[in-house]
Amino acid sequence: MDQDTEVAAAAGGMTGALYVVATPLGNLADITLRALETLRGADLIAAEDTRHSRHLLQAHGIGTKLLAVHEHNEAGAAPRILERLRAGEKVALITDAGTPCISDPGSRLVAAVQGAGFPVIPLPGPNAAIAALSASGLDVPHFLFHGFLPTKPTARRHAIEGLKAVRAVLVFYEAPHRVIETVADLAAVLEPEREIVLARELTKLFETIARMPLSEALAWINADANRSRGEFVLIVSAPPAAEGLDPEAERVLKLLLEEGLPVKQAVKLATGITGAAKNALYQRALEIGREG
Ligand code: SAM
Repeated sequence: MDQDTEVAAAAGGMTGALYVVATPLGNLADITLRALETLRGADLIAAEDTRHSRHLLQAHGIGTKLLAVHEHNEAGAAPRILERLRAGEKVALITDAGTPCISDPGSRLVAAVQGAGFPVIPLPGPNAAIAALSASGLDVPHFLFHGFLPTKPTARRHAIEGLKAVRAVLVFYEAPHRVIETVADLAAVLEPEREIVLARELTKLFETIARMPLSEALAWINADANRSRGEFVLIVSAPPAAEGLDPEAERVLKLLLEEGLPVKQAVKLATGITGAAKNALYQRALEIGREG
């Protein structure tokens, strides 16, 4: 697609396109003006659960036809949607809550539509991970969105082990019936001084956002049955800085590496400038290299 066509598509001035539309997490008022206009103007809405979405659409007086497109029929539904696009129709894709394709169905359909040469136009809006991060109170220079962890305990612990050294805030989705096990595993595997934010029922009546050291989280959640009810985003702060390396030494080392100095030379200079331990600087330089 050339640039003009892209602009026309983004402006909604073209038919035969798939619109990926974010919808509310709970509060029905959390929908953008552009989403309402697009859903109203679409020829068809592909929805994860048509009954669930009808509630949202009725609340906004939208009568557009719905077609069920979920995890189990996504591949089969794609040809039917392509047919509609070939006929010049506008199709909107929505899921039960938040942004389609983010721990939700839709990516196979998006790929099929792109593969057939039709534009895919995202309409940004609610997303549980971003909402939770924005109210977490954590410093978030980088975050890793993991979504759901494995449901089996051994696989879950293994997955958390694999994330332990990632120098970023970690973001998980979790269902109410597994949240206690998951919090227990996060506390068992990760450093106890890391903080956890439990963001529950965002935008809904019982919205709760609680931040505490990971070592206190299990006792906190077990202290009141209401604290494990509803939908959760779990956020864990980044790992503590490498032992023996103060923030100034880390800053200088990073600067030197960013200037393109080889590891050995950057470590030597950083040792001279900051007086930090050479070994700690060397270890950290290797980590920075691995992080890319
Ligand atoms: N696509 C969605 C998004 O953009 O956030 C996520 C869908 S995923 C199937 C559902 C999970 O998202 C829930 O299990 C929970 O972890 C999280 N979630 C959805 N709504 C939430 C809310 N209101 N409060 C907290 N977490 C929520």
